[in-house]
Amino acid sequence: MDAKSIRRTFLEFFQSKQHAIVPSAPLVIKNDPTLMFTNAGMNQFKDYFLGNKAAEDARVADTQKCLRVSGKHNDLEEVGIDTYHHTMFEMLGNWSFGDYFKKEAIEWGWELLTEVYKLPKDRLYVTVFEGDEGDGTELDQEAIDIWKGLIDEDRIIPANKKDNFWEMGETGPCGPCSEIHIDLRNDEERAKVDGLGLVNEDHPLVVEIWNLVFMQFNRKADGSLVSLPNKHIDTGMGFERLCMAIQQKESNYDTDVFQPMIQFLAAKSGKEYGKDEKIDIAIRVISDHIRAISFAIADGQLPSNNKAGYVIRRILRRAVRYGYTFLDFNKPFMYELVDILSDQFEETFPEVISQKDFIKKVVMQEEAAFLRTLDKGLAILQKAMDAASDKTIVGKEAFTLYDTFGFPLDLTQLIASENGFSVDTAGFDVAMQEQKDRARAASASEKGDWIDVNDGDSVEFLGYDALESDASILRYREVTEKKKTIIQLVLDQTPFYAESGGQVGDKGILVSGEETIAIFDTKKENDLIIHFANKLPSNPSAPVVAKVDASRRSLTENNHSATHLLHAALQEVLGDHVAQKGSLVNEKHLRFDFSHFQKVETEEIEKIEKIVNQRIRQNIQLNEQRNVPIEDAKAMGATALFGEKYGDFVRVITFDSDYSVELCGGTHVPATGKIGLFKITAESSVAAGVRRIEAITADAAEEYVDEQITLLQEIKELLKAKDPKKAVADLVEAKAALSKEVETLRNKELQAVKNELASKAVAKDGFNFIAAKVSVANAQGLKQLAYDLKAVVENMFLILAADVDGKPQVAVMIDEELVKAKDLHAGKIVKELAKEIKGGGGGQPFFATAGGKDINGLDAVVEKAQELLA
Ligand code: ATP
Ligand code: MG
Repeated sequence: MDAKSIRRTFLEFFQSKQHAIVPSAPLVIKNDPTLMFTNAGMNQFKDYFLGNKAAEDARVADTQKCLRVSGKHNDLEEVGIDTYHHTMFEMLGNWSFGDYFKKEAIEWGWELLTEVYKLPKDRLYVTVFEGDEGDGTELDQEAIDIWKGLIDEDRIIPANKKDNFWEMGETGPCGPCSEIHIDLRNDEERAKVDGLGLVNEDHPLVVEIWNLVFMQFNRKADGSLVSLPNKHIDTGMGFERLCMAIQQKESNYDTDVFQPMIQFLAAKSGKEYGKDEKIDIAIRVISDHIRAISFAIADGQLPSNNKAGYVIRRILRRAVRYGYTFLDFNKPFMYELVDILSDQFEETFPEVISQKDFIKKVVMQEEAAFLRTLDKGLAILQKAMDAASDKTIVGKEAFTLYDTFGFPLDLTQLIASENGFSVDTAGFDVAMQEQKDRARAASASEKGDWIDVNDGDSVEFLGYDALESDASILRYREVTEKKKTIIQLVLDQTPFYAESGGQVGDKGILVSGEETIAIFDTKKENDLIIHFANKLPSNPSAPVVAKVDASRRSLTENNHSATHLLHAALQEVLGDHVAQKGSLVNEKHLRFDFSHFQKVETEEIEKIEKIVNQRIRQNIQLNEQRNVPIEDAKAMGATALFGEKYGDFVRVITFDSDYSVELCGGTHVPATGKIGLFKITAESSVAAGVRRIEAITADAAEEYVDEQITLLQEIKELLKAKDPKKAVADLVEAKAALSKEVETLRNKELQAVKNELASKAVAKDGFNFIAAKVSVANAQGLKQLAYDLKAVVENMFLILAADVDGKPQVAVMIDEELVKAKDLHAGKIVKELAKEIKGGGGGQPFFATAGGKDINGLDAVVEKAQELLA
């Protein structure tokens, strides 16, 4: 069975058991501070488990893109070294939200594996949770009893909390689980060693394929477990591992999921896969990593220098260095794999094919950039080796390579060992720890548990229709960040818009009796709307009135609607390839990032601005449609964003159905005329293939234009000219001519001074001594004067006390031969003389200068100099 049929069969099987098939959530998580990337199928359903939200379907199945490279689940170090852990993988899953529980989950799982996929029963083992004293949980006898009806009892293995109690993160939904493992060794090996003892022992051919989690607890911040309101089923099966099992392979990479890429890499590098372990690992790593990178980019996460973006960049660099070191690729190569990938996922994850060119561009530029620092890093590494005393590279140096040049420690170690060196890894760890401590100190944030105040589950957003409403506080918690404690509040209903889709969260007030509490921000966490305040009302259970800062909201709306008009204008002027890559909309301005491969030219900017302003003047009425079935919205041609998670029902914002139709949850103007005026203030590049436009609207735009006009007016007045452009051009020309003239005059003057000084030289003790006070235009002039004198006066000993454009300076110059013969040092002399002008300085033995603060001391300098001579 090929991979596509295996995936389809899974979904059809659960469809036949009344499961709704839902799309994968994006790989990159936007509204959850506890998680950067989706790491399990259940992430998108977290709120259902916690009871924050009611599930639309009680039974659901899907294939979910997962990434396990950070946080609680991090498999990065294994990837490619072993044959069954990936960075990005598909997790096939079926769920019950308070519907069926252990019996159906176990029986259906078994039916699918053994009867539909026909995996041999004598190769399968199952584990069950043995209980944990610390948590106060017990042996899962219920699961054992169900399994007994399906599989030999000696194939049921009790296992501990580490393996059989599933947790998404440090806090959140969790529960005991039961895993299904398969023994893929050949018969000979199986006869020699019983598979039973190899389960959960990291054997590459005795691996876990499916985990059935029985969600029944919530892990709180203090580490304790509380029961969830309902019991749920959450299962996750590694798609690539399932393919290996069904296709009877010994490695995920031998399945048709990876083979096309493996073959490509082998052919391109001219190396054979399966001959040399080092080369094999490199090929596996690359064919794995390109998947994580491509899907992350498709979901809107570009490689960058922090957070999720840095994770992606690191993965990319790891792959590039494997290619560089083991496959001799010294030019970008990974981007070529994107073609293969996008074809492969055309049916399941079309986001890769529709953004193929963009992904390729980003990957190629990232590769090229790292290949540049790779060289530099290698040079630095060479220097570190040259400087190493005992054939050990200093840990700090290795850390610099890691931190500044993106060199993973293992690359530094590898190159070092090729040259007979080793790396002080303890020192590296110390430097790393220091950096981590700094980072932790900077971002330390502590969240208390939610404290329930009033009953109620649902949270209703009223802010599309109202800016003020009655409400009651459902719950609150304290959050401490950077030593400051704030209160986060959840209301049963609220007009406050929570930051999302680029639009900032509302500010405003809560009125509770006599008391007024300022709300300084509103954010989303999953689907909760969280209000940020500095204090809690004295009676939190009393009713409140929630009021949004209306004028700020109104200005923000202008900018949000303008963003839609801009998006459509960009597509009209630049082309259909323009896709939104990010945006920020607040009361002051708007920022819009989009895919486009070159600078937006001035004429294009003008065109875009013109279109938007025309649309504004047409005063197009807002057409806001809520709860539109997603399919209908797509049929309307609505622009959706990649990497954004949309439900089955969406909100559609239209400004003229032939112009701008977007899926959007933000707030908008009732008609475009309210925007007033739109002005682009900047155009720039933010990343490979991504441009940014910044703009302002309404009052801000008017002010901006007024300022520009005033400025021009003032310039005209200053110039006293009707044609300021010509006047400025004339001025520039005149200034250049004047500068030239001044220069000539200065030179002449300097020549005259020089001649005079030269004629006054006094011969004594083999020197021709000159000490004088002079006045020059700048420091360069003083130096010039000294050197000019040197050219005409032999055996010179020169001391100049200079007024340099109002500031005192001293210069001392002594003939080089005499410096040597008489062991003199101009630097020392100038230091002594500079005391008279309250300054200091130094220089070479034959020439030195000093600056000072007291211009009145110049005469004293000359006097002191005369004393030197006496
Ligand atoms: P393992 O112990 O093998 O790392 P796990 O206990 O971390 O697995 P779960 O968190 O239970 O795995 O995830 C459910 C399923 O997802 C696993 O049974 C496995 O088939 C698959 N899976 C987990 N991690 C990976 C990975 N890094 N790459 C590919 N598949 C994976
Ligand atoms: Mg794991």
